[in-house]
Amino acid sequence: MLNYINSLLAIPRGLLVTFKHLFKPAVTLRYPEVKEKLPERYRGLHYLARDENGDEKCVCCGLCALACPSGCIYMEPGENQRGERYARVYEINELRCIFCGYCEEACPVGAIFLGKEYEFSNDKREKFIYTKEELLVPLPGEKKV
Ligand code: SF4
Ligand code: SF4
Repeated sequence: MLNYINSLLAIPRGLLVTFKHLFKPAVTLRYPEVKEKLPERYRGLHYLARDENGDEKCVCCGLCALACPSGCIYMEPGENQRGERYARVYEINELRCIFCGYCEEACPVGAIFLGKEYEFSNDKREKFIYTKEELLVPLPGEKKV
C-alpha cells in the first residue's frame, strides 16, 4: 500500500521540479542560431598568418613541431624565388591536437595562432589533417579554402 502511495506521489513531485525550473533562466542556448560568447583566451582551430605584403610568415623553422606534445605538426621546407625558406608543406592533424597553444608560443615569427573557430566537425578522419592552404589566412578578396 505504502509503495502504491509513493508511486502516486512521484508524479506531482516530478511535476513540481519541472514547474520550479520554468521560472529559472535557461542554461542552454538555441545553438546554432545562438552562439556562446567565447572566453578571450579560447583556443580553437589554428591559422597561419601573413605579413604586411601578404606573404606567408612561416619560415619552416620547425620549432612549433618540436614544441608540440602531440606530434601533430608536419612540414617540409622549400625555397622561394627570393631564396627565402618557407613551408612547402605544412599540415596539422587537428584530431591529435590538444589545443595547448605551445606551437603559438614557440613560433619566433608570429606565424601560427589558435583562433576562435570551433565548428569544424567532419565525417572523415582525413579531413582533420589541415593543409597549409586551408590554414593560411586568405588574401583580401580570396575565398577561404
Ligand atoms: S596546440 Fe598544442 S597540440 Fe595542437 S598543434 Fe599546437 S602544440 Fe600541438
Ligand atoms: S609556424 Fe612558426 S614555429 Fe612553426 S615552422 Fe613556421 S615559423 Fe617555425
